[in-house]
Amino acid sequence: MDLGLTGKVAVVTGASKGIGLGIARAFAREGASVVVTARTKEAIEAAASAIRAEFGTEVRAVASDVATAEGCQAVIDAAAALGGANVFVSNAGTGSNETVAEATDAKWQQYWDLHVMAAVRLSRGLADQMEAKGGGAMLMNASICAVQPLWYEPIYNVTKAALLMFGKTLSTELIKRGIRVNTVNPGLIRTPDWENTARELAGDKWEAYLQEVADQHADIKRFGTVDELADFCVFLCSPRASYSVGSAYHVDGGMLKTT
Ligand code: NDP
Repeated sequence: MDLGLTGKVAVVTGASKGIGLGIARAFAREGASVVVTARTKEAIEAAASAIRAEFGTEVRAVASDVATAEGCQAVIDAAAALGGANVFVSNAGTGSNETVAEATDAKWQQYWDLHVMAAVRLSRGLADQMEAKGGGAMLMNASICAVQPLWYEPIYNVTKAALLMFGKTLSTELIKRGIRVNTVNPGLIRTPDWENTARELAGDKWEAYLQEVADQHADIKRFGTVDELADFCVFLCSPRASYSVGSAYHVDGGMLKTT
């Protein structure tokens, strides 16, 4: 299927590794130019070089913290320099581990800024570029935890639920400007981060640990691959998904325990 993304400009935050890198690669494979962002300069530049070498498309690396207004502006400016964004994937994020009783206000604020304000600020700036180009698509990468919480990460659950609602609300506003907004809620996706956590917790039995997690949570009894999720995301952001507006899609191997 031709996804109609050749020559488009896609912005993906948190793209130096894991899911964001997979999504950026998938856009480049479809012939799109990509703006990739992360805080660590060497890592995001290495990711950009690797994507450029593999697919031959234009790739701009932005080293900035999207949890800040200035960090978001740097991303918006980079997209403008490429002629303006057609697609935006708000992906940068990370898990947490705390209790409500013990977590500080500062920790709540840090996750609010990363999971919610980054999406608010970037979608505001990039919407103007998309409208000027005749429309576009945005995708919020929330989590299954936005609707089915994991007990050890209350701040993650709450801020991802807020991101999910932000995507829905934004969708109603932006469709009037020709921009589709959707949300994806991944379940267990096997990333280097999950592998490192498993190594820390289970040493050389880390693969067995990951299998236990999958057995416990996902009906399909395995983690999803980054590519399985990335392909879904790229389709949703493509003109081939033109009637998908304001929805949340679970990519979770049956982890969600309701309809
Ligand atoms: P990783 O930890 O592997 O990658 C996170 C990426 O985001 C890195 O590129 C990191 O680079 C970047 N990043 C983190 N903080 C910031 C920041 N403040 N500003 C800019 N970039 C930042 O995460 P995953 O690939 O596992 O997850 C990606 C997204 O998917 C997250 O939002 C996560 O919540 C969500 N998700 C993941 C699931 C999974 O099973 N893996 C399941 C459900 C949702 P750097 O540190 O250099 O900034």
